[in-house]
Amino acid sequence: MSLFSNNSSQRALELRNLLNKANHAYYVLDEPLMEDSVYDNFYNELLSLEKKDSSLITADSPSQRIGGSPAKSFKSKRHKIPLFSLDNAFNIEEVSNWYSKMLKLEDNPKTSIGKASDMDVISELKIDGNALALSYENGILVQALTRGNGEEGEDITSNVRTISSIPLSLHLKEPPSWLEVRGEAFMPNKVFDNINNERRKTKNTLFANPRNACAGTLRQLNPQIVAARKLDFFAYTLHLPTNWEANENDPQQPINQWQALQWLKTAGFKVNPNSELIHNLQGLYHFFNHWQTSRLGLDYATDGVVVKVNSFTKQKLAGFTQKAPRWALALKYAAEEAPSKLIKLTYQVGRTGAVTPVAEFEPVVLAGTSVSRATLHNANRLNELDLHLNDTIVIRKAGEIIPEVVRVVQELRVENNIKVELPLQCPECKSKLSKIESEAVTRCINDTCPAILRGLLKHWVSKKAMNIEGIGEKIIAQLVEQKIVNSIADLYSIRLEEIASLEKMGDKSAKKLLVAISKSKEQSWHRQLYGLGINHVGEANAKLLAKNFPSIEDLAEAVSNNTELISPIYGIGNETTQSLQEWFANPLKQKLINRLKVIGLSLSVKDNITADTNSQKNLLNSKIFVITGKMPTLSRHSAQEIIEKAGGKVNSSISKRTDYLIAGEKAGSKLNKAKALGIKVIDEEGFRNLVKE
Ligand code: NAD
Repeated sequence: MSLFSNNSSQRALELRNLLNKANHAYYVLDEPLMEDSVYDNFYNELLSLEKKDSSLITADSPSQRIGGSPAKSFKSKRHKIPLFSLDNAFNIEEVSNWYSKMLKLEDNPKTSIGKASDMDVISELKIDGNALALSYENGILVQALTRGNGEEGEDITSNVRTISSIPLSLHLKEPPSWLEVRGEAFMPNKVFDNINNERRKTKNTLFANPRNACAGTLRQLNPQIVAARKLDFFAYTLHLPTNWEANENDPQQPINQWQALQWLKTAGFKVNPNSELIHNLQGLYHFFNHWQTSRLGLDYATDGVVVKVNSFTKQKLAGFTQKAPRWALALKYAAEEAPSKLIKLTYQVGRTGAVTPVAEFEPVVLAGTSVSRATLHNANRLNELDLHLNDTIVIRKAGEIIPEVVRVVQELRVENNIKVELPLQCPECKSKLSKIESEAVTRCINDTCPAILRGLLKHWVSKKAMNIEGIGEKIIAQLVEQKIVNSIADLYSIRLEEIASLEKMGDKSAKKLLVAISKSKEQSWHRQLYGLGINHVGEANAKLLAKNFPSIEDLAEAVSNNTELISPIYGIGNETTQSLQEWFANPLKQKLINRLKVIGLSLSVKDNITADTNSQKNLLNSKIFVITGKMPTLSRHSAQEIIEKAGGKVNSSISKRTDYLIAGEKAGSKLNKAKALGIKVIDEEGFRNLVKE
C-alpha cells in the first residue's frame, strides 16, 4: 500500500531517489541513513508499484541492481562468478509458498528420498555482515573481493589476510588450481562495543551497528588497523571446478550444500555451527522460531535465517532471477522499525492534568503486532520531532516495548504540510493550559476537568490502590459524563439504580459493584494515600509516607509546617514534598479528605481494620532509629528488618525526633550529632537487649 501520493509514477520516483540515496550511504559510505527494516518497507513498496505497472521500472531502480558501486579507494575487480543478493521473505506464508515451488522442481527420482511433500533444505543463520569472495590458487589465498555491485567488487586482499579465521592456505593434500569460497565477514558484538566505547572517549562518530563497523573496517587503507579490529568470518558457499577430482585423502567434490559446508570445515574454514539439514517445512518453522529468540545470546548479529535447497542438481534447475538465486530465501526477523504516515495528533489528559500528545498513523506491523498510535510523552518531544501532518514517520516497537515515533523522514516531506503544535486549550474542558518552566509537561489545571476526574477515578479503583473490581474505563466514562460522580468521594454515595442504568450493567453486577465499593473503605492507609493520585506519590512513596506518618492529618501537618520530618525519609525527594504541599494547599482536596472521612475511610493506620499492624509490632512502638558504622555481627539490613518488625522506624539522618542511634565501628559525624542532641547511643549488644533477640 502506498503511504503517499495517488500518482504512482511520482511515488516511484520519490522512492527511487530515497532508496538510491540510502544505498549509497549504506554500501559506499558505511553510514546508513535508516534502519534496515525501514529500507525494506520502502523497497517493497517500490517493488509492488513496479509489479503493478512495469513501465515504472527504470534502469536506475534499486530493484534492478545489487548493492552499491565499489568505493574509489580500492581497485575494482570483476567477479569470475557474479555475487547475487537474496530474495527476502517476511513471514512464514511466503516461505511456505517458496517451499511448494521448490518441491515442484524435477529431480532425479532415484536420488530423492522421503515423502513427495518433503524436500531437504539447509537452514543457516543470516549473518549480518559483509559478503566476501575469496579466491584460492593451488590452495593459497590470492584475492579477496567485496560483493560490490555483484559484477565488480573492491580488492581488499591485504585487509582480509589479517582476519585470522580465514586460512591463508587450505588444509588439503591436493587443492584444485582455483576455487572460490564465499562467506560473511563480521564484527563480533563484543569487539563492536569496545570499539564504540573507545570512539566515544575520543569523541569520534560512533558506528551505527556491527555490520556497518565491519564494512568500514574492511575498507581501511591500513591493514594494521584492520588486524586490530579482530573481524571474523563464516564460510557458506563453495565454488569448485566441476571437473576437479579430489585426492583420496581429501574431502570429495560435494553434491549438495550440506556436504559443501563439511568440505569447507575440513579445508580449514570456520563454518557457522548452527546450520541444520532440515527435511520438511515443519523443521524449517522450528529452526526459525528457535533462533528468533536464541539469536540474542549469540556474539554476532543475525537478521534472519537463510534457507537453501540442499541438492545442487535442484539448485541448478531452479536457477537465478536478475538479482538472486531462486533456490534460496532469506527469512527476516520481525521488523522493529517501520515507516508510516502521520494522520493526526490527538491529546490525552491524565489524572495530574498532564497533556500527552498521541500520534495517530496508518497501521503498521511491528514486532508481530499492528500498531497505529504512539504517545509522544510531552511538548518537548513534539518540538524535537518537528511533526507536520502527513509526514512519513518512523515507528519503533521492540518486543513488549510501547511503540514510539523515532523520527520524521524529512526527504519525503511534502511541501505545505501543516506543522502540528500543542493546543493552548485543554482538548477536554477547553480551559487554558499551563506550562511550568521547570517541567517539560503542559497541564490542564482545571480541577473539574472531566478528563482529570476520569484519570483520578481510574487510579483510585486500580489494583494497587483501592482494588475495586467491576469498574473499568467505560463505566467510569459514563459515571462522569452523566455527572453521577463528580469526585472520588461520590463513588461511595452512588445508588443501585444509578449503576444499574449504565450501559452493559445488569442488576446483579451493579449490586456486586456496590459491595466492592463499600468494602474498599477498609483498604490500608498506604493504598488510600496512593489512590489519591498525588503527583510523585507512587506506590513506593505512599508506603514510605504511610509508614512515617500514621494519618493524613500527621502527613498534612508535616507537609505544611514541619518538612524537616519529611526530608530525612530516604526516597522522598524535594519534588515529592513540593507536590504534596501543592496538593494539601488546594481547598478542593481538603474538602475531599473531609468527605472521605465522613464516608468512613480512615485515611490512617489507627482505626484501619486491615492496616498492616499487629500486636507483635508494638515492641518498639514507633521509636525512630538511625544506624551508623559497622556492627560486629549484624548487618544494617537485618537490623532494619528487626526494628520494623517490632514497630520501629529507621531514618537515614539524625534529627531531634531520633530515639536511638545504633553505632558500630567507625561511626562518624552521626555519632557526634547524636551526642550533641543528647540522643541515646547504643551498640549491637544494647540493641539486642532492647529487642530481646
Ligand atoms: P541481504 O543482506 O538482505 O541478503 C544477502 C546477503 O546476505 C548476502 O549477500 C550475504 O552477504 C548475506 N548472508 C548472510 N548470511 C548468509 C548465508 N548464510 N548464506 C548466504 N548469504 C548470507 O541483501 P543485500 O542485497 O546485501 O542488501 C539488501 C538489504 O540490505 C536490504 O534488505 C536492507 O535490509 C539492507 N540495506 C539497508 C539500507 C539502509 O539504508 N539501512 C540500504 C541498503 C540496503
